[in-house]
Amino acid sequence: MSHTRECERCAGKGTIPAHKNVLGGVCFLCGGKGKIVTKAAPRKTPKWLISATTKDTGEHIAIFSLRARNAEIARQMAVIQLARGNGYIPTSATVAEG
Ligand SMILES: [Zn+2]
Repeated sequence: MSHTRECERCAGKGTIPAHKNVLGGVCFLCGGKGKIVTKAAPRKTPKWLISATTKDTGEHIAIFSLRARNAEIARQMAVIQLARGNGYIPTSATVAEG
């Protein structure tokens, strides 16, 4: 699911008159498009529910949630966190929205 919003830096114009001396004033935030496409709702980083397999019982259970821009980043963050502890198998981490 993606959302498009008007670029707040250039107000949807794609250029910023005050920066005309830099690359013709192209807005760096939106790359001159005047709008920004995000995967999540505007200004909100999605929350992800992390599950992993316990070393004790082999059960795959939900453990904690974290905020990240996308599922792949969330999974990488989870693997790092799980690697610090020793109750779960880090590479078993899975990510669900929520
Ligand atoms: Zn812009």
